[in-house]
Amino acid sequence: MLEKVILPANIERASELFDEAEKIVIVTHVSPDGDAIGSSLGLLHFLETQGKTVHVVVPNAFPDFLRWLPGAKDIVRYDRYRDFGNQLIAGADLICCLDFNVLKRIDIVAPAVEKATCKKLLVDHHLEPGDFCDVTISHPQISSTSELVFRLICRMGYFEDITMEGAQCIYTGMMTDTGGFTFNSNDRQIYFIISELLSKGIDKDEIYRRVFHTYSEGRLRLMGYVLYEKMQVFPQFRSALIYLTKEEQSKFHYVKGDTEGLVNLPLQMKGICFSAFLREDTEKPMIKVSLRSEGKFPCNQVAAEFFNGGGHLNASGGEFYGTMDEAVELFKQALVRYEDQLLKN
Ligand code: 5GP
Ligand code: MN
Repeated sequence: MLEKVILPANIERASELFDEAEKIVIVTHVSPDGDAIGSSLGLLHFLETQGKTVHVVVPNAFPDFLRWLPGAKDIVRYDRYRDFGNQLIAGADLICCLDFNVLKRIDIVAPAVEKATCKKLLVDHHLEPGDFCDVTISHPQISSTSELVFRLICRMGYFEDITMEGAQCIYTGMMTDTGGFTFNSNDRQIYFIISELLSKGIDKDEIYRRVFHTYSEGRLRLMGYVLYEKMQVFPQFRSALIYLTKEEQSKFHYVKGDTEGLVNLPLQMKGICFSAFLREDTEKPMIKVSLRSEGKFPCNQVAAEFFNGGGHLNASGGEFYGTMDEAVELFKQALVRYEDQLLKN
């Protein structure tokens, strides 16, 4: 049995919002990941079974390995189809905000969503949700928004209406946000939910291959390059750092998503509990920062304090406006500042 995580009052209010809406738009965060796309499409498939007209609008591109997800080809990219996106958002009866906590995270879509006068619903698992929705379902202890979407649908009494397509999307989000159930994944209920999703006919082994075994040759060689040539290890701080310049990215024919997961690699070393990956952005003049930690070390505090960012305890990120050398220097300062916490972790 599922424990009742979402407050009964919120289940009721979300139910009402869905009942009253005909045209629904789902929005999710910039550079959408597996959970952003999985939760959005999972909710879309459910709402379509209820006869709603639903669109998912995303700020920009999402990784190729999510393209096979049922419904992915109809996702509206706001950076490409801004007018259509604006039309959908302005005409919506309800906007569902999935997998982000503050409007800034939907980047160029934020002004349109902020301006929309319709009702808004937030379903998310990031810390410190902003107050921009009529109903806020925020549970940072839950490892994925996709899991929350499953819980919401079930608690509203519609488990039967989850289709195999919807189940594939939800499973993909749960799997990607836990690194294939290798972190944030000790909650027994996750496995109960997986069992329920399997009852819908999903092939979880196939989903794993479709998501994780899709590297290009360039991506795999890039992995070899960063590990052999680029990784700096700071054993005295139990930390490691990898950074990549624009030139290096083009050398390996970088496409969006190619560097995803590289930040996790140093954590496989014994004794390393904090890892940073710095990438010179190819679109904006900034350095994208990804941080990961193990145990109790709060990498989101480092993201907030040093890199204008935030996120989860063990997975966070931010942005740095300056040179790579400055970013590396800042990271080293962070290590010194957090030395005590790193060593006692
Ligand atoms: P990733 O390293 O995969 O890009 O991001 C990991 C997590 O860090 C995200 O799920 C998100 O919670 C957080 N995050 C990444 N970038 C940013 C950012 O620029 N600002 C904030 N506040 N959080 C971020
Ligand atoms: Mn998520």
